[in-house]
Amino acid sequence: MDSTLPPTSIRRLPDRQSLEVTWPDGLACELALVPLRAQCMCARCVDEITGERIIDVEGIDPQIAVTDLELVGNYALRIRWSDGHHQGLYTWPHLRQLCQEAQKSI
Ligand SMILES: [Zn+2]
Repeated sequence: MDSTLPPTSIRRLPDRQSLEVTWPDGLACELALVPLRAQCMCARCVDEITGERIIDVEGIDPQIAVTDLELVGNYALRIRWSDGHHQGLYTWPHLRQLCQEAQKSI
């Protein structure tokens, strides 16, 4: 589904260790930072050939923070993390999917 519209707002909630994402259709969700960091799809976190996750999920700093958010074109969000990682892009369909999964667990 590449027709996903961009979120209407993305807000950092540092006190809650999460990002709040709101979509044009009204869906809103809170994405916890540690699982979000674990979902990075870049070549350093996921093997491009096998699709296997190579990031050490257990090794993610539980106090990890977002240092910057940057829109990439109109299709993705680049998150700069306090661990120095900034290679990963979160496309709208990917973020949307994470949001829907976050909703289900509430
Ligand atoms: Zn990555």
